[in-house]
Formats: sequence, structure tokens, C-alpha cells
Amino acid sequence: MERQNASGSPAIDPALSRYSRQVLFEKIGVDGQRRLGQSHALLVGCGALGTVLANTLVRAGVGHLRICDRDYIERDNLQRQVLFDEADIAANLPKAQAAAAKLARINSDVAVEAVVADVNHTNIERLAEGADLILDGTDNFETRFLINDLAVKTNRPWVYGAVIGATGLCMTIVPGDTPCLRCVFEEAPPPEMNPTCDTAGVLGSAVNVVASLQAVEAIKLLAGRRDEINRHLVQIDVWSGRFVNLNVSAVGGQGDCPCCKQRRFSYLSGERAAATTALCGRNAVQVRAGAGATEAVDFAAIARKLEPVVSQPVEYNRYLLRAVVDGHELTLFPDGRAIIKGTDDLDKARTLYAKYVGM
Ligand SMILES: [Zn+2]
Repeated sequence: MERQNASGSPAIDPALSRYSRQVLFEKIGVDGQRRLGQSHALLVGCGALGTVLANTLVRAGVGHLRICDRDYIERDNLQRQVLFDEADIAANLPKAQAAAAKLARINSDVAVEAVVADVNHTNIERLAEGADLILDGTDNFETRFLINDLAVKTNRPWVYGAVIGATGLCMTIVPGDTPCLRCVFEEAPPPEMNPTCDTAGVLGSAVNVVASLQAVEAIKLLAGRRDEINRHLVQIDVWSGRFVNLNVSAVGGQGDCPCCKQRRFSYLSGERAAATTALCGRNAVQVRAGAGATEAVDFAAIARKLEPVVSQPVEYNRYLLRAVVDGHELTLFPDGRAIIKGTDDLDKARTLYAKYVGM
């Protein structure tokens, strides 16, 4: 039974009072808010879209959010990656760690878990354990197709989002109900979204709109409003003000999708996985450690090994080690993964890794 306050409107359970404006919204209400508070979401990628998604969901009162990101913060991220600041850069914090620290100050009722890792076919099943929903905060189709494989295989919803320039796309995928991502983009991304690592740039406004659309879809799914999801592929352009809802329901029914129809999970099985990846728009390459690297890397030992061959001091904290080798900035993570800046050349990056890290 709901109590009435002096103004005659129903009083809200004190545990939900911080969400009063959201509970008053009738599509959510007390029941939706409680469901949201018991839900668990996995966020893959905590950059532009990811920081807005995490900020919105943690403020909205999701129960548990696991944030996975492979990268550290740079100055040119601050234009759009809303959870980070200059102090995080000075402290050499990985994105997942900096985001979790900020979110804990925003809403300590939410269990926020930071995982500094490259999400790939070897770990995504474990990272998604317990998650009711997966959120796409990535910047590449390889990881999106990996998420799509896992979501379809394990029958869990996920929300796709992508942004470039002033434009963006968003789609909610509920396996067995809506088309999956590969029903719509079987192989290549659409030309206007082609992640060619070029200089198209990206507007913070476009990021905020797409991530907000993703977040509201996530809230519907987690608050028990699955029947009200947007079943369209949403295309937006914040510069021209154009919003288009593209009808994709037909592609799910007619096609012979390799993922949701044939159930061939080629991204999840690892047959499409690359050990070395150029990072979109970064002039940087990620090199993964060889299989079998289970122990955390000993940063102190690596620093001692590098000191004689580097001109600048090697810096490290518990999250990452940074050194300049042959004119390239090398950032090493405890899992043995490295990001090598100043090149898009995969062979060159692998050579530098073998020479200086050598695992
Ligand atoms: Zn499909």
C-alpha cells in the first residue's frame, strides 16, 4: 500500500527516493525501479558511448554494472568521454578504473566492477556471466560481432550503438524476437559508419544522443518493459537534426543469417580473431600476449629490463607500465597486452613488442 504525503501524491519507499523523478515516470514506476535495481549489465568498452552509458545507468539505479575496457585515457578523449578528467590522465589510470572510481562517488548503491581487459573470444563468456544485458560501447565491428554471437548463443539481449562525425546508429537486439546485428550487417559496416580510422572526427553531441537512446532501451529491458523496445535501426544526424527509424523486421524473417539462423558463431569460436589489432583513429596498435600468459606481468622486472635501453624513465603503477621505445610510446597492462602508439603497422608493433616485452 502506498502512503500519501501532504501534497496528496504517493510517498516513495525511502530506498527508492533518490530515483523519485524516474519512479514518477509511469512507464517505470516502483516495480520497474525495483527490477532495475536487481539487474546486472555488462558494458563492453568505456570510451565515448561507454562513459555516457555507464553514467546514465548508474544514476538511474541499475543493480550491478561490470565495465570492461582495454585502454587508458588521453587528453583528446575528454571532449566526449564524460566520466574522465585531467587528474585521471595525470594518474595514468585505465579507463575502466577511472570510470568505476567516478561512478562510486555518483551512486554508491550500485555495484560497479572495473575490468581492464581486451574483450575477446577467450574471455567474453566469463565476463558476461550473470549479465542480463550487454551494452555496446565499442568502436569496432569485430567486437560487436563477438557480442552478437554471444548474445544469440546465450539468448540474452544487447544494445548496439555506433557514432562517427555527427551521425550515429542504434539498435536493440533481442535474440529470437528481433533481427540480430548480422541479419542487418552481414559482413561489412555500412559505408557512412565504416571505421576506417580516418579523420572524420566525432561530436560529443552525437555520442550523447546515441548513448542516451541505447540507455533508454537498456532501462526498458532491465525494468521489465521488453514489450516496449524500439524495433527499428535508428539513424541520427545531430548536425542536420534528422532522425530516421529504419524498419529492419523484414531482414530477420527472410535472410539466412549465419549467426541467428545457421547458428555459426565464428567470432565467438575465435576463427576470426586477430592477435594484433590497429586501434581505430588512434595511430596505435594493440598486441595481445601469447596464449598461456596467466600470471600478472611483473612491472618492476620489466622496468629494470628496459631502463638501460630507454632515454626517458619507465613509469608504472598497479594498472599499467609506460615506456618510450624506439620513439614509440609503449603501454603494458598486467595481462601482458600492450598498446603501441605512433604506428598503424601491425608487423612493426609485433616486432617492438617481441624486442622490448618479449613474452
Ligand atoms: Zn541474425
